Amino acid sequence: MEGFEVESKMNDKVIKDKAAWQTQLTPEQFRVCREKGTEPAFTGAYHDCKAPGTYRCVCCGQALFSSEDKFDSGTGWPSFTRPCSAEGVYTGADRSLGMVRMEVLCARCDAHLGHVFDDGPAPTGKRYCINSVCLELERASG
Ligand SMILES: [Zn+2]
Repeated sequence: MEGFEVESKMNDKVIKDKAAWQTQLTPEQFRVCREKGTEPAFTGAYHDCKAPGTYRCVCCGQALFSSEDKFDSGTGWPSFTRPCSAEGVYTGADRSLGMVRMEVLCARCDAHLGHVFDDGPAPTGKRYCINSVCLELERASG
């Protein structure tokens, strides 16, 4: 039975109702993360941040992106070539605004994070375009 408990801890989905998220988050965090909004370009805390560390989900704390994979896309949003682990995020088709984009979501709490595009730099060719407001940088010590 111990093995079963370990397994359930690894699959620790965070599920809360709308009111609980509204209590936990700022209005802007709620609008972007829980209602699939987008912050205005060049307004977020991290679009030109170069500090080393791990970017975590502002809703649930899951590690999402590493500063090592961050690059300056010039778009005004933090951009990464890949998530820090394949299990941390998932993608789904977003057909809003009359186009099809690939939405990026937190695998743990289903927060909307941003979109991924195929025009990124090497080595992945991907550009994960993420809202600063969805992230919280855990700065590397030292
Ligand atoms: Zn999350």
